[in-house]
Amino acid sequence: MNIKDNVSLKKYNTFGIEVLAKKFAMFSNQEEAGELLSENQGALLVLGGGSNLLFTKNYDGLVLKNDIGGIEVVEENDDFVYLKAGAGINWHQFVMYCIDHNLGGVENLSLIPGNVGASPMQNIGAYGVEIKEVFHQLEAMHIKDQSLHKFNLKDCEFGYRESVFKKKYKGEFVILSVSYRLSKHPRFNVSYGAITKELEKMNVHELCIAAISQAVINIRRSKLPDPAVIGNAGSFFKNPEIDKKQFDELQLSFPGIVGYILENGNVKLAAGWMIEQCGWKGYRKGDAGCHKDQALVLVNYANAGGEEIYALSEEILISVKNKFGVKLEREVNIY
Ligand code: FAD
Ligand code: NAP
Repeated sequence: MNIKDNVSLKKYNTFGIEVLAKKFAMFSNQEEAGELLSENQGALLVLGGGSNLLFTKNYDGLVLKNDIGGIEVVEENDDFVYLKAGAGINWHQFVMYCIDHNLGGVENLSLIPGNVGASPMQNIGAYGVEIKEVFHQLEAMHIKDQSLHKFNLKDCEFGYRESVFKKKYKGEFVILSVSYRLSKHPRFNVSYGAITKELEKMNVHELCIAAISQAVINIRRSKLPDPAVIGNAGSFFKNPEIDKKQFDELQLSFPGIVGYILENGNVKLAAGWMIEQCGWKGYRKGDAGCHKDQALVLVNYANAGGEEIYALSEEILISVKNKFGVKLEREVNIY
């Protein structure tokens, strides 16, 4: 296998951080993955599109870029089509495949960067939809002994930006492929106000998945920084969940606080709003900053080091804790 030494990871992470991988290789099928894993002795990092991680130092081990392709129909009935996609397929490309074949379920998740293989890692979500709603099964290889495993919906223990792969099985598996259950008769989810407004702007009179996808694409393009222009990894922090009593108390001190009631009675706070209230929106120190339109997104304007962005995230965490008494949790994976 072609293993390279001291490879720059700058083009492999959307923050655009310049660090080196001690060793670097790509694999495009299960056999290659098995071979590389069986020969490796030290630390290992599986890389997708690099859009949900921050490198704070050189990686002292093997970085494996997952490049497994292919989209195939594995099952079909009157209502659903089950599609299996290779972990290296670009997520948005997969969404577009579904739209082109009139298969519903992932249209609200249009234009999320990264690859299929990482979609279950944090149960990607946007505009009121999470992949757990369409997830069927995944195939993964155990890093230690290269054994193959299947995970169904229950096994993945999906939560808000969470799964077993970020918790009890952290760093234990390479995801090889993911199967999703797409609907032939989709139920549209336009509960996010922004989508309805955008559809009106687009003059859409008959709702369809292609129109919802386009609305999401338009909103994202207008609001979120394009990593090709300004380095970022999307939302740096998760929206914290607090109980209703704490929310009511916070509302007395901060009447404008933004929160959404969850099914369990708790409240999900908009972390971006709290960060903005602490004065961080548009802040810049050197090349590290907090985006001018969305305070939840930390950015690398040019040549910031990962440790500078991490230090900024620490300052933000402390200020939110001091002002609101709420502890933010990082969503981005730190290496
Ligand atoms: P990477 O960053 O490469 O990896 C992330 C983690 O998963 C790492 O720990 C890595 O080791 C692990 N991993 C990756 N692939 C595998 C694999 N095959 N097997 C085992 N482990 C693996 N996220 C959302 O949920 N919703 C959004 O709306 C959203 N919007 C975004 C907007 C922007 C502009 C950006 C830059 C990011 C956004 N994100 C969003 C975050 C990110 O795009 C997603 O989390 C995405 O799924 C990450 O995919 P990736 O392939 O880039 O993963
Ligand atoms: P937004 O629409 O301005 O909303 C701000 C926050 O309020 C969001 O984080 C969202 O929570 C919450 N929210 C808004 N409307 C809601 C509703 N009807 N019900 C429940 N919660 C609601 O957010 P945005 O920054 O423009 O992002 C739009 C969507 O894309 C969001 O779903 C966001 O999660 C997703 N996104 C994710 C990332 C990432 O890296 N993870 C990056 C960019 C955008 P939720 O986050 O729980 O949806």
